[in-house]
Amino acid sequence: MLTGLHIAVIGGDARQLEVIRKLIELDAKLSLIGFDQLDHGFTGASKEQMDEVDFSTVDSIVIPVSGTNLQGQVETIFSNEKILLTEDILKKTPEHCVVYSGISNSYLDSIVSSTNRKLVKLFERDDVAIYNAIPTVEGTIMMVIQHTDITIHNANIAVLGLGRVGMTVARTFAALSAKVRVGARRTEHIARIFDMGLTPFHLSELKNNVTDIDVCINTIPHPILSANVISKMPAHTLIIDLASKPGGTDFRYAEKRGIKALLAPGLPGIVAPKTAGQIIANVLSQLLGESLEDRKGNE
Ligand code: NAP
Repeated sequence: MLTGLHIAVIGGDARQLEVIRKLIELDAKLSLIGFDQLDHGFTGASKEQMDEVDFSTVDSIVIPVSGTNLQGQVETIFSNEKILLTEDILKKTPEHCVVYSGISNSYLDSIVSSTNRKLVKLFERDDVAIYNAIPTVEGTIMMVIQHTDITIHNANIAVLGLGRVGMTVARTFAALSAKVRVGARRTEHIARIFDMGLTPFHLSELKNNVTDIDVCINTIPHPILSANVISKMPAHTLIIDLASKPGGTDFRYAEKRGIKALLAPGLPGIVAPKTAGQIIANVLSQLLGESLEDRKGNE
């Protein structure tokens, strides 16, 4: 239970509603900032303006997966107000206050470090990344179905990268009876791909492994699908780039060549916001519970 914990939830999208639900269930005291246009009220949580919150009693601040932008603005789909998380706000919080975000940037890193507060980046955790790979792959399947005129069954699919997303992508498309080959650079990844019953290739051989593919799914956040590689693909190839912006594809060249290449960020929040929210809510509530226990132990 999170009884006695005061949490400021600042902004977000549909995923944050799952977080709010879970935190209320666990009896936390919530201040919701950036939710003024949300019709739904939450019993046990109050919608407040930033300047109405008494930050001196806030134990934790939860901001959306995207964190802040480089000017400190926090995205919210439930308000038209401009919401800023600033150094001054963090200074008002107690020393033990922890900020929870999905990812960070130089702005967020700098205000957290100048105020000596702790920042937890949920999306850097393996468990979150692995759970999130599940809705990501479901979204990828949806996109492949939407943008091809062939079945996944028997299609030649190249997956690039065997990280947390690549592993789930490769396994799931193979389970749908696609002919999956996976490109990686580490020998242990090559061995794992072989172990999974899929066809491995080293990324140094990438251009020789795309000459007969129907779909290429990239998970590598590095410019891997260069003009040189794309030029070897059949004209009907569909590229789905899952890597974080700007992706790993030379989109300009793909377009010039008439190859459909789609950057597909944020699929969990698009195809399964409820599940994606529950993934965050479960991990977050566990971490908040642990930090509460730690504090009680130190008192
Ligand atoms: P990950 O576990 O770190 O895996 C990244 C993979 O890329 C690893 O196989 C890594 O290989 C490889 N890689 C990285 N840099 C490389 C380079 N320079 N050359 C060759 N290979 C390289 O990351 P993840 O959790 O799978 O996420 C992959 C990407 O998808 C990230 O950009 C993430 O933000 C994004 N993502 C997107 C969505 C979406 O909805 N589109 C959802 C979740 C995640 P090594 O192990 O050899 O380094």
